[in-house]
Amino acid sequence: MTKRADLVLLGDRIWYLPDGVHDLQCVARTRRGPRCRNYIENGQIASWTQLRSARGLITVYDLSGHADATVQRWREQHCEVHDSLDVVDFGSPEWEPFDPARNAAMVTSLEEQIAEFARRLREGVTEDWRPWHPVPM
Ligand SMILES: [Zn+2]
Repeated sequence: MTKRADLVLLGDRIWYLPDGVHDLQCVARTRRGPRCRNYIENGQIASWTQLRSARGLITVYDLSGHADATVQRWREQHCEVHDSLDVVDFGSPEWEPFDPARNAAMVTSLEEQIAEFARRLREGVTEDWRPWHPVPM
């Protein structure tokens, strides 16, 4: 499976994760030496939301409402086991500041979004519409 980049709203900033948010693993060094294999997230704790910017729509995994301690742990890219000050990191966290110009593929223009809405309307793919066909008399 190829990895897909995600954007994460963490605190009041958007971050770019080249390998996606749900596979994000701890960067701490374990006591035996190798890198910790634990995931940062233990069960999905946030939801996806769309933000509107001057360049278009940005889909983010929204951790904006979470406690400062959670935001800090995510930024440090530590699992719950390695959520302490004396942890030594095996590598650097993978977070990159989101740059709408450099990460332009993550931004959907309003024109693209409208075209997608129009396509779904024409194909009848909405959450609200059930198909109806006249029954011959
Ligand atoms: Zn860990």
